[in-house]
Amino acid sequence: SDDAAQFLSAADPATAVHDTSRKIEESVSTVLGFMSAATGCAATYGESLESNLGAMANAENLDSLRRAVETLVADTKGMAAQNSLLRDRLADSSNEIQTLREHLESVQQEAMTDALTGIANRKSFDATLLHEAEHALEKGSHLSLLLGDIDHFKRFNDTYGHQVGDQVLKLVGMILKQSATGSAKPARYGGEEFAIVMPRADLSQAVTLAETVRTTVASKRIRKKSTGEDFGNITMSIGAAQFKPGEPIADLIQRADECLYHAKNAGRKQVATEHELQAVVSD
Ligand code: GH3
Ligand code: MG
Ligand code: MG
Repeated sequence: SDDAAQFLSAADPATAVHDTSRKIEESVSTVLGFMSAATGCAATYGESLESNLGAMANAENLDSLRRAVETLVADTKGMAAQNSLLRDRLADSSNEIQTLREHLESVQQEAMTDALTGIANRKSFDATLLHEAEHALEKGSHLSLLLGDIDHFKRFNDTYGHQVGDQVLKLVGMILKQSATGSAKPARYGGEEFAIVMPRADLSQAVTLAETVRTTVASKRIRKKSTGEDFGNITMSIGAAQFKPGEPIADLIQRADECLYHAKNAGRKQVATEHELQAVVSD
């Protein structure tokens, strides 16, 4: 409908969600209006039934009986017509609400998705990590976090252009999506930084996935489809940290980030964990 198109073109997802919610509220209040009109009609019909039946009981001759019956028939037909009108209107409203609800779901989905890569965005990542940390605490289960960053990406952009860089980000997003099986949840954390939240995974399982991502990324040759021009390959550094029950989420993120920083300093294109951090401290 026109309304749906209007919402789809809304620039701000939050505004689109708000507008759609308001539309649903309007539809519901229209339905409530129909219901209350219907209740009124039924009451009026009840009264007319009563008075017509009274008139029939008290009819002194055939003529007044016939008039009472005719009124009764006319009122009943009117009521039937009202009912059918109401049924149509309720069906229309119900369809409209269904459409709006589906639209609301798609707008909400869009608000949690990174437009370039199609994986979860930062907002979604924050919500997921918070939710999973609460869950891990409650169930006493493991939780791990990977933070990855493309190596020398500024140089890559400077050499081949931002558009080729964007294609690389899409490729990395796709590799994350394909590698993160089971309950692992990949997200674009920032510009060229990615994250994977890993519910029920300990550090060694996190390292396994990190190595899969790292080697898969490194194995791809970046080529321009139209000309076959070869842009070489890109590499990624990844930090892995495991949630310590009760710690603030910011601490977990910071630890994963420190591991990432460590991987960069140790020569990039590698995975680093908390164990390496501790090794540095004890040296
Ligand atoms: P390092 O190995 O230390 O991570 O080096 P780096 O060059 O990757 O790191 P730096 O933080 O200096 O640069 C990040 C670059 O990522 C700079 C920016 O141009 C690029 N970048 C960030 N977001 C996007 C994006 O959406 N598209 C493209 N094409 N590039 C982006
Ligand atoms: Mg970076
Ligand atoms: Mg980088």
